[in-house]
Amino acid sequence: MSTRRQIIAGNWKMNLSATEAKALVTEIIQLWEKHDNVDVVICPPYTALETCKTVIGQSSEIFLGAQDMHQETSGAYTGEISSAMLQDLWCKYVILGHSERREYFKESDQLINAKAKTALAANLKPIICVGETLQEREAGKMESVVVGQVEHSCAGFTEDQWKDVVIAYEPVWAIGTGKTATPEQAQEVHALIRSTISDMADGKIADKLRIQYGGSVKPENAAELLGQADIDGALVGGASLKAHSFIEIIKNACQA
Ligand code: PEP
Repeated sequence: MSTRRQIIAGNWKMNLSATEAKALVTEIIQLWEKHDNVDVVICPPYTALETCKTVIGQSSEIFLGAQDMHQETSGAYTGEISSAMLQDLWCKYVILGHSERREYFKESDQLINAKAKTALAANLKPIICVGETLQEREAGKMESVVVGQVEHSCAGFTEDQWKDVVIAYEPVWAIGTGKTATPEQAQEVHALIRSTISDMADGKIADKLRIQYGGSVKPENAAELLGQADIDGALVGGASLKAHSFIEIIKNACQA
């Protein structure tokens, strides 16, 4: 059995005002029964971080995360948010390289790598997203695309930095589409990612690294996905916007 601690993260994307976010995080906390074997992270929009911070409180078992950040630590970057700003709001995690950022904002692996290094230097744990499109999968390129993204987005991490890294495998064709990778398809790619890390760093680091699955995860499919040997949690979009479904997914992680 794996000794890796499961991690369930909710990516609220560009949804919920600060007022709505307050209601959702309050409901999640009310329904949440603390379990020692799972980390729970919520990633509201920037504008709701302060409110969520106040509701959660510093000692809670629910961690705050952001959905992105800038690679520079400060300066003339109008509209951007720095690692220090996130830290000040008690963020412990930051999602980087989500496929929506890669697609709509043309974020490259090199940029994601720079952001990850800045995040790590500020004691933020990056959740680095990778995943192939349907076109790439159908063209037989899944392996080269995913391995390439991992190698370039995670290049140059030290042994110490690897301890704080989480990778999320999110096949682009499964995000927000209702299509989920089968547990076997997901497991195959998670094992591939782990062996890539083993080659890049070493087997011990790879064995400890947490790899989440993301793509239409919901209470009905969570148990099977989270029960796979190399799946250590989930990055949840749509289903994290409803307290009950998010909590059901967390419960499945507790039993995985
Ligand atoms: C996501 O955006 O990271 C995601 C996995 O979304 P959904 O769960 O809605 O597919």
